[in-house]
Amino acid sequence: MSPLMREIATIIAQDGPITLERYMSLCLSHPRYGYYMTHDPFGAGGDFITAPEISQMFGEMLGVWISEAWSASDGPAGARLVELGPGRGTLMSDVLRVARVAPSFLANIEVDLIETSPLLRDLQRQTLTGESTPIDWRADFGEVPRAPLFILANEFFDALPARHFVKTESGWRERLIGLSSAGALAFGLSSRVESGLNVQAPSGSVIEVNAIAQRLIGEIAERIVVDGGVLLLVDYGYTQTTLGESFQAVARHAYVDPLESPGEADLTTHVDFAALKRAARAKGAKVQGPVAQGSFLRQLGIARRAETLCRRATPAQQIDIESALDRLVGAGDVREHMGELFKAMAIMHPDTPDLPGFES
Ligand code: SAH
Repeated sequence: MSPLMREIATIIAQDGPITLERYMSLCLSHPRYGYYMTHDPFGAGGDFITAPEISQMFGEMLGVWISEAWSASDGPAGARLVELGPGRGTLMSDVLRVARVAPSFLANIEVDLIETSPLLRDLQRQTLTGESTPIDWRADFGEVPRAPLFILANEFFDALPARHFVKTESGWRERLIGLSSAGALAFGLSSRVESGLNVQAPSGSVIEVNAIAQRLIGEIAERIVVDGGVLLLVDYGYTQTTLGESFQAVARHAYVDPLESPGEADLTTHVDFAALKRAARAKGAKVQGPVAQGSFLRQLGIARRAETLCRRATPAQQIDIESALDRLVGAGDVREHMGELFKAMAIMHPDTPDLPGFES
């Protein structure tokens, strides 16, 4: 039995079954045994691969976009370039490299990396060695100093713990995780009926709610409405809030049982973009998108960038560039193509003019 499994079993034995939110939080962020505390999950030899790890073109497009967003916000001095969940630091490295063509942006920003994992902080520090822009690491968005904020979040919101509610004959009940008689983790239901949840649905339906993501978006939108700035959120998810669940576990590039080995797999849910849009608008922010990642990156000129890179590449490198482009923008099964399931959405100060990438 892994140390985290032992700890979860003890918690359940003491306090009773736990919510999915608590389970995800323990599995991903337990200070000693949490997945992100103990793993470098990215790349072919890891558990999954993210867009910045597929190609530098992704970070370059986001870098150009965020520096344009800064200019469109009247180029405020003392601004902060913030990244939520920077992984290996690859995205930020690509962003800072392309930002050199916009020297006034670089001259007016400091970087904040929001990262809980000491292991990933070390990797980020290595990747970003030699950058002249000042960089600070923070465990929580709330620690970012007051300033106009230019924020990037790629595959961050899917990692925030969600809750499930299941419709029963007697009403909605929260899905819990407890122990079976054999001592294995097993799904169950709370005995308490949720009276907030006033959603009509047939018995057996599931609703997924990410209260943590909605609260964080609210907090970010509040800051942006007061101090100026934008958030660009890129992640997999759906445009409309729907019934159903998307809780999944991935290890070594395959789907695995999310209750099987806590702390050993990446646990996520799809992002409910509509819910996050409502949370941002409720604070007075302007929202553009979501649009499909493929459409967003094409509008920003990723195909032209691929052509330019191909011109100075060897034939083998040209094949890699073309296949990376296809993977980032192409439609179809998400394991091969990110262009459709992944989406981009921007949250900004209400006075910001429309930013590129969001035409449908
Ligand atoms: N953006 C990166 C990595 C995505 S994985 C990329 O595209 O490659 C999720 C990242 O968010 C990891 O860096 C993880 O350690 C971090 N993370 C997860 N939950 C977090 C939390 N609650 N607070 C801060 N960082 C978190």
